[in-house]
Amino acid sequence: MMVSKSNHSSEEELINLLKNKKETFWSNASLKPYHTLEDNLAIPIEDLHEAERLLQRFTPYLAKVFPETRKMSGIIESPIRGIPSMQQILEKRFQQSIPGNLYLKCDHELPIAGSIKARGGIYEVLKYAEELAIKHGKLTKDDDYSKLAHPEFKQFFSNFSIAVGSTGNLALSIGIMSAVLGFQVTVHMSVEAKEWKKQLLRDKGVVVVEHDKDFSFAVTEGRRQCQEESNCYFIDDENSKDLFMGYAVAALRLNEQLKKENITVDADHPLVVYLPCGVGGGPAGITYGLKYVFGDHVHCYFAEPTSSPCMMLGLATGKHEDISVQDIGLDNKTEADGLAVGRPSALAGRLVENMVNGIYTINDENLYKLLALLHNSEGISLEPSALAGMYGPASIDIQKQLSRMYDSRFSNATHLVWATGGCLVPKEIMEGFVSKGSKYLREED
Ligand SMILES: *Cc1c(COP(=O)(O)O)cnc(C)c1O
Repeated sequence: MMVSKSNHSSEEELINLLKNKKETFWSNASLKPYHTLEDNLAIPIEDLHEAERLLQRFTPYLAKVFPETRKMSGIIESPIRGIPSMQQILEKRFQQSIPGNLYLKCDHELPIAGSIKARGGIYEVLKYAEELAIKHGKLTKDDDYSKLAHPEFKQFFSNFSIAVGSTGNLALSIGIMSAVLGFQVTVHMSVEAKEWKKQLLRDKGVVVVEHDKDFSFAVTEGRRQCQEESNCYFIDDENSKDLFMGYAVAALRLNEQLKKENITVDADHPLVVYLPCGVGGGPAGITYGLKYVFGDHVHCYFAEPTSSPCMMLGLATGKHEDISVQDIGLDNKTEADGLAVGRPSALAGRLVENMVNGIYTINDENLYKLLALLHNSEGISLEPSALAGMYGPASIDIQKQLSRMYDSRFSNATHLVWATGGCLVPKEIMEGFVSKGSKYLREED
């Protein structure tokens, strides 16, 4: 399936591969040692700790209004799981050994929103709610936040509105959280947003505006309409520092989880993380946090669909949000709806341009095949976007890079594939995903 494509010598060659929808690897020549970056971070690490404290303050509230968070005492977090059968399947499939151990970060199980968006999206809504309640003298940071579940607060928040533009999952996270708090909430959905996601939101009282264009358009339109209203707060997936910080908190939590599992990360035990990338806030936020926690011992790779390699294009050309995949003739059409973004975030790419090791692209057919393989080997069901990271551990390009750095110590590696969504997908739709992947696999023989 995927061949090594790292030998493109120029930007022009890379763009040619992307144009032709070839699965491609881009190695980041601007990667820098973390100690050269840490004194000049564009967002101070104190903000990361403050984000974690805010989420902590809200735990009594979340445990009260979302019963599924009670077993974690109101903390929205997902487990890590070893996936040794899938590791063998990948090795066999790509005829490539994967030195070290393969784990899955199960964000598809995150409560409330069922995807990685439960990190950034919920954090930003809670932060805004706290700010409003404090400003109006209704809350102090020392209060028991479960009081926010009181009808008086719902009444209060109903004077304010929140809006967002999304391909689907961010809308779920923002829509559900905002509606439960009592906000008026409008989500602007891009063309690929799935019907079930829209219906689920309507059922919760969220106003769903459907656009027949892509993500960048839905965001622009949502932003414009929100600005025309009074008391409307726009959650801006192309620019938001709060979303970014909500994602970054994952790194502090992962550190604790790895310790609990006795998994060492140090100069002799690299951690390699594979992150599906849409507009970039999720993977970049997590990378930002992971670099702070693990420094040069963590290696972060992003994964994008061949039709929507916006972050690769933005970083490889240095043009960031000033270039889109449409500019090079791609259509930004992919079944990986969470990753169907043509223009990268203005913020995310800049924040990690010296931190991300590399990016690869993967086509839709291969996402479906990996979906079926994971389903059959481990009994884990993910949505197509969430499989983008799964190819990474078998990538020859990535293995070459890391073997050069670690030699035989590479066999001590922990590979962590970030599974970014899936548990809210209706059963019959998931069955359709699996059978599509199985069909593609059968057609190979
Ligand atoms: C949004 C999303 C991503 C990527 O996050 P970005 O912040 O858009 O880069 C990955 N997987 C799924 C399932 C998503 O919904």
